[in-house]
Amino acid sequence: MGRQSVWSLYLHIPFCATRCTYCAFNTYTDRHALLDDYVKAICSEIGSLNNFNHRIHTLYFGGGTPSLLRPFQLEEIISHVLINFTYSPSLEITQELNPRDATEEYLHAIRKYVSRISLGMQSVNPSELQMFSRDHEHSHVVQAMEYARQAGFDNINLDLIYGNPGQTLDMWRDSLHAALELDPDHLSMYALSLENGTELKRRVTYNELPLPDPDLAADMYELASEMMEQAGFTQYEISNWAKPGKECLHNIQYWKNLPYLGMGAGAHGYANQTRTVNVMKPEIYIERLKNLPPNPLPFPQTPATMTAEPIDRQTDMFETIFTGLRLLNEGLSLTAFEERYGEKLEAKFADEIRRLTRMGLLWQDGDALKLTKAARLISNRVFQEFAVEEET
Ligand code: SF4
Repeated sequence: MGRQSVWSLYLHIPFCATRCTYCAFNTYTDRHALLDDYVKAICSEIGSLNNFNHRIHTLYFGGGTPSLLRPFQLEEIISHVLINFTYSPSLEITQELNPRDATEEYLHAIRKYVSRISLGMQSVNPSELQMFSRDHEHSHVVQAMEYARQAGFDNINLDLIYGNPGQTLDMWRDSLHAALELDPDHLSMYALSLENGTELKRRVTYNELPLPDPDLAADMYELASEMMEQAGFTQYEISNWAKPGKECLHNIQYWKNLPYLGMGAGAHGYANQTRTVNVMKPEIYIERLKNLPPNPLPFPQTPATMTAEPIDRQTDMFETIFTGLRLLNEGLSLTAFEERYGEKLEAKFADEIRRLTRMGLLWQDGDALKLTKAARLISNRVFQEFAVEEET
C-alpha cells in the first residue's frame, strides 16, 4: 500500500449560470444566493474529517462552474485545505472555468493559488454552442487563453466534445484546428453521451435533432488522435492528450484507482475501500454542516455523506485493471498490481490476457500491460473480458 501514500481532493461547486442541454451533472441554476453559505459549508466539511494523516498532492475544483466562486472565496477554501491537511510542495490545484468568467482580472486574482485551469471550449462552431445552450462564444475562449498566459498560467486544458447531433467530420476538424491554434498544454475530448433527463436527449428522441452516428464518432476520434500526434501531443489516456510534463495528476489518481476524497454537494470519494457519495442538494449540504459537533463518523465519512459503500476486493481489482489500462503510455504496472493485491495479474487473468493479446487488443511492454491502438475504440469490450472472469 506504499503506493497509496499520496491522496487527492475533489471539491464540487454545484452552481451554473445556465444549464447546458447535454448536462446531467449535479448542478443548479437558481441557487446562487447560497454561494456564501456553501463556501462556509465546504470549509466545515474539510475541517470535519477525522484521522486523516495522508499527504494531498492534487486539489481539483470541478462542477458545476467553479469560476462562479469569487477569488476571495476560492482563497478561503484553499486556506482551509492547507491548514487541515499536509500537502505536497508541488500541490497541483486545478480549477474548471467557464470561458465567459475568465476575465483578465479574475485570472490574475486566482493565479496566486491555482496552478492549472481547465476551460470548457466544447466546439468552435456557433451552431453547436447554441445547440448545447453554452453561454459562451468562441471569442471568449480566445480571450481567456490570452489573459491566462499573461497571468502566468503554463498548464491550461481545453475540453472538447465530439459525436454531436448534426456534426460533420469537417466541423470537428475546425474545432480541433481552432483548439490547436490556441496552443493549450492539455486537451480532453469526450464523445457526447446522451444522458437521460437532458434536453439534448429529449430533442434527439423526438427527432428534433439527428441521432449521432457512432461510426462517424469513431472517425472523429481517429482524426483527433492523428492531429494531436502531429501537433506534438501525447495521448496518455484514452480521451486525454498532453504536452510533455503537462499530464493531469488529479485524473491520473482516478485512473490508477488511488484514493481521493470528494467534498461538496453530490461529490464522490474513494478511500479505505469505501466509495462515498455526498448529499446532492446544496441547501441540504449546507444544513448538514451547520453548527457541527465533533464528527462521530468513521473515516472517510463526514456529516455530508449520503452513502458509504464498501468496495470488495474483486471489484477493487477489476476497477484497478480497467482504469489502469486507460493510461495508454504508462499502462497497467504488473509490479504495482502485485504489491497492491499480493497476486500476479498475469497469472490470475492468464486466459484473458492471452486471448486479448491474440486478438491484437493488449500487449505487454516490460512491466506494463497496455491497450493496443486497435483497442482504443473498443476499450469497454476489453475491460468487460476481465469483469466476466470476476463473475464466474
Ligand atoms: S457548465 Fe458544465 S456543469 Fe454547468 S450546465 Fe454546462 S455542462 Fe453542466
